[in-house]
Amino acid sequence: MCIVYTLYLSSVAIRRLVLNSKTSKAFAKTFCVLLYGSYLFVALLYYLLVLSSKAYIGEVASWHLLFGYVGHINTTLEVLGIPLWLVILSLCILLIVSVTLAVLASTWICWPELSQRKLPPISRGLLFLAFAHIIGLIAGSLAFANGYWVWYSEPLSLSSFPRVISMQNHAVDAGKLAALDYREEMARQAYTPGPVPSSRPNLIVFVVDGLRPDHMSLFGYPRQTTPYLEQRRRNAWFLSDRVYSSCAESFCGIASLLSGRFLHQLPSKPITIHETLKHYGYERRFLLSGDHDNFYQLADALYGARAEQIDTEEKRSMRYINNDHALLGFSDQLPDASDTPLFIHYHLMSAHSLGERFLEPQYTPELNHSRPDVSLRAEEPSVLKAVRNRYDNGVIQTDWMIEQLLIKLQQKGYLENAIVLITADHGELLGDNGQFGHAKALNEAEIRVPLIMLRYPMPDSSPKTACHFGSLAQVSPALAKLIGIKPPVVWEQGEIPFPGNPLLHIRQRNHVGVVINQDCSQAYKLTIDLNSGEERVDLLIDGQLQPLEDSSQPNAETLERMREAIDIARNSVSEAPKRLQTKISPMDANADSLPAKRGSAENDGAEP
Ligand SMILES: [Zn+2]
Repeated sequence: MCIVYTLYLSSVAIRRLVLNSKTSKAFAKTFCVLLYGSYLFVALLYYLLVLSSKAYIGEVASWHLLFGYVGHINTTLEVLGIPLWLVILSLCILLIVSVTLAVLASTWICWPELSQRKLPPISRGLLFLAFAHIIGLIAGSLAFANGYWVWYSEPLSLSSFPRVISMQNHAVDAGKLAALDYREEMARQAYTPGPVPSSRPNLIVFVVDGLRPDHMSLFGYPRQTTPYLEQRRRNAWFLSDRVYSSCAESFCGIASLLSGRFLHQLPSKPITIHETLKHYGYERRFLLSGDHDNFYQLADALYGARAEQIDTEEKRSMRYINNDHALLGFSDQLPDASDTPLFIHYHLMSAHSLGERFLEPQYTPELNHSRPDVSLRAEEPSVLKAVRNRYDNGVIQTDWMIEQLLIKLQQKGYLENAIVLITADHGELLGDNGQFGHAKALNEAEIRVPLIMLRYPMPDSSPKTACHFGSLAQVSPALAKLIGIKPPVVWEQGEIPFPGNPLLHIRQRNHVGVVINQDCSQAYKLTIDLNSGEERVDLLIDGQLQPLEDSSQPNAETLERMREAIDIARNSVSEAPKRLQTKISPMDANADSLPAKRGSAENDGAEP
């Protein structure tokens, strides 16, 4: 209404200025239909994209991210398995709806036409109304622009000014985060490296987005999905399918892996393994498939200076962002191995539902579980089978990618002395509990990840396999121990194979939990839904969930220990109302006023 009224007032003003100007009725009508129609079409299309991005990635996409996918629309549709005709048909329907509404609106109110009507004389009353309207408009705009919900909930605002770090769906209590940040900065300044170890192996990390260990033939899956990794078993130093990520989504999974912490211990810019390795003369390279700037928002918080990434913004805009094949080209640009040891971090999207597929599928028919209709048909066995087929083909492509990349690194001399780590940031629901995707709760399928450690040259002994459960948060400390570098004091303790004693924290939104190893074959998992207060105990025998019977209940002491651990973790994460909980940015801990901090990219990476 405000906009219409303002347009009306301005048309009056224009008409007063340009005397005798006449606009034909037909022109006015056409003008209105075009104006209203295009506005409606753009707005509806935008909100449709917002709804899709909420469905696919769980948050409102930034313009950059939206244009990234729209710019590669053919690949995006191909990956999702959505035919182009369906998109064109939807756009046509949207256009028809917009034009129909515009025609209806223009018969009701059309401002150029209104401006032709006989005007009332400019009275004091009209002047007062106009003045009050302008003041109201300014005040309203200011209140709107500074409203908390606008900055943290309004889609246009979120698209234009994406939050710097969201920890995805985990809001962290701002005060506690400020304390964690302070402690981290103190630890960073106080860190003095120990003596440089005589042998500094290259450290090559593969994070495969959404890779489930129980879909890898390396861990006994009946379909042969990881033939190359099976071949490399002779290089294996450690193999485990009993590893928990610290949450069921990318941000905290990767952050925990690289910075030796559980989710509730994470500061805004944690001291990472690669930051520590720099003190020992390591070069670092990040070769990443997936959009880590606009979606994961990890680049600034974790990965460090841009100069150390090979896939620059410019290069990434030229390809579909989730295409792992590009990593081969980026790896070609690595110099040959020298005396300077190298840390390389690869992020692979081949197993992810948005990852581009370029190998001929081995299992058909395929169905991408990110398609909106799949959730509605979760009960159909044929749908489940097709979803699993597609996922398994992705695991096969992952295995092939790792093979190709390791061959390249070998040719360049990086495998003369190296540790290769292959893991995931989280798992993936493939119809387990009737759900698809990840970031839902603490289901085993979405929170368990593989951990494979290869040694070059080949280790003397056969691979150590896991008996106890471990966490991604223990990996960096274990690597530090293995390489012989001093771990920062803020890291968790950790060694590989995992020791039996620590409590492993897990969290996903309002689901908070802990896993405790009882002995080599038995563990308990306690989870609490903070919304309903419901508590659930799971028994794990030899790595698998087993029904909990009266005789296998944890004793009171174990239960108490687990509850205490959960209390510590939950108190570190905000339990504000859910709407706010998912919207508070950890960066706000340092902000004087909330909006002023938004969209700033003041940090230049996790440099020491
Ligand atoms: Zn992920």
